[in-house]
Amino acid sequence: MLCEEQKMSKAVETIAVARETVRLDRLRDFVLAFGRLVDRQPTESELLKEGAALLQELVATDDWLPAKYAEPAPDRYRQYLLHEDGAERFSVVSFVWGPRQTTPIHDHTTWGLIGMLRGAELEQHYVRRPDGTLTEDGEPHRVSVGAIDAVSPKIGDLHRVSNAYDDRTSISIHVYGGNIGGIERSVYERDGTSKRFISGYSNEDIPNIWDRSKLSVGA
Ligand code: FE
Repeated sequence: MLCEEQKMSKAVETIAVARETVRLDRLRDFVLAFGRLVDRQPTESELLKEGAALLQELVATDDWLPAKYAEPAPDRYRQYLLHEDGAERFSVVSFVWGPRQTTPIHDHTTWGLIGMLRGAELEQHYVRRPDGTLTEDGEPHRVSVGAIDAVSPKIGDLHRVSNAYDDRTSISIHVYGGNIGGIERSVYERDGTSKRFISGYSNEDIPNIWDRSKLSVGA
């Protein structure tokens, strides 16, 4: 027989386990499916189309991202690596925006897919004028939960992204055609001048999506 105190602590334990149950199997299934897509060596437009469908499925449910990769920072946005393909053909990243946080104008030098998991982003595309300066390419557009966006040197690679909210965290999941934290790319001023940078990542360790014995929990 359990005394009241033991019953209570058992109940608290059960709630804690339920809260910690994250559906990492969704992330694992996504990276496996994305790997199979990349294996087929599709054209970029095929890859962006089919990859967008996979990413849309991933961000349709918000129960798989562990809390430590969803943590904002007060000073600037965070970029957590969630998975790196073994041959660095693609990487999966969570972009975590604190209120009002924004990027400089930047490029990627490879294709990228952006899927909104929580909150919303404002994305402003830029193009280069003949005189070398940068100008807005249309109005900023809002990317809301469940929506997918794409960038690449072929379809437009220069943009600035901001959290659409000034009072809450927003999170988007990105997939890039390479190890995005290790790729040399550039940030830009409106006058067209640029500075090279390698973004790196905000985390030292990545989620263990491969322990299938644990990932069945809550599935
Ligand atoms: Fe970007």
